Amino acid sequence: MYKLFHKYKNMPCGIDYKHIASVPSFVVKPMRLVAFLTLVKISLLSIALYSSAGCAHWKKDKDTVYQVSTIDALLNACYEGSVDIHTLRRHGDTGIGTFNQLDGEMIVLDGIFYKIKSDGTIVQADDSDTTPFCSVTFFEKEKSFELQSGLKLNQLSSSMLGSCNYFYAMKICGKFKTVKARSVPKQSKPYPMLLEIARTQPVFNYQDIEGTAVGFFSPAFAKGLNITGFHLHFISSDRKSGGHILDFEIDKAQLQIDETRGFQMLLPDDEAFRRLDLTQDKEKELNKVEK
Ligand SMILES: [Zn+2]
Repeated sequence: MYKLFHKYKNMPCGIDYKHIASVPSFVVKPMRLVAFLTLVKISLLSIALYSSAGCAHWKKDKDTVYQVSTIDALLNACYEGSVDIHTLRRHGDTGIGTFNQLDGEMIVLDGIFYKIKSDGTIVQADDSDTTPFCSVTFFEKEKSFELQSGLKLNQLSSSMLGSCNYFYAMKICGKFKTVKARSVPKQSKPYPMLLEIARTQPVFNYQDIEGTAVGFFSPAFAKGLNITGFHLHFISSDRKSGGHILDFEIDKAQLQIDETRGFQMLLPDDEAFRRLDLTQDKEKELNKVEK
């Protein structure tokens, strides 16, 4: 302890007692001890304050869906990426979306951002890749239950979730009898409307496949912002197959749910978005494209 005291004695909050020659040793030693303990206390307090400040800065917001752009902007051919994957990592470890110029489907699972390309191959996205539309959140399983064998996509119901008035992040993990999925090819300017692209999109029919469906339930009042109801993407356990789910049939799988009360949206900062007319109801068009 004495050595430690001497190590710190010249620090601003310490006292250099070697100059106090006239003070008797039975007084100096307790003074040294008190000074050392004070120093330790201040140091620990500083570390605690620094740590708590650091935590506040980096704290993950686990109860918020973070969305880039709107589904109606995507329907109107706003395909230029506006947020990069590096930024998205700070907002979620689970989610779905697409990439710059519609270059494949995005699925985010366990913090890994996958790109499902239009030829069906899957690669991990680069941090510099950007997205024109996606939703992510930090997934915390709040509820889970087994889904009935034979259940299809259109048989998923908000009653399974708890309420139809919240955003829910969800995962369906297990075996699927069938998964019908699509991915879209990269587009170039002048961009065709999404409805036009959907007419010729590559569709994959997987059978007896293990994997995870990841996605969201969005409430009816989110119309225009996102796909209302269920929107799920699929990735196989071997990470070799996937896409935007058009339909599935469950074999043996578990539904995991995360109710999220927060919603944050970042709109694109580009001329194409500024000039868009987003006053029209695109619901019918959306049903043809996404379902
Ligand atoms: Zn999708």
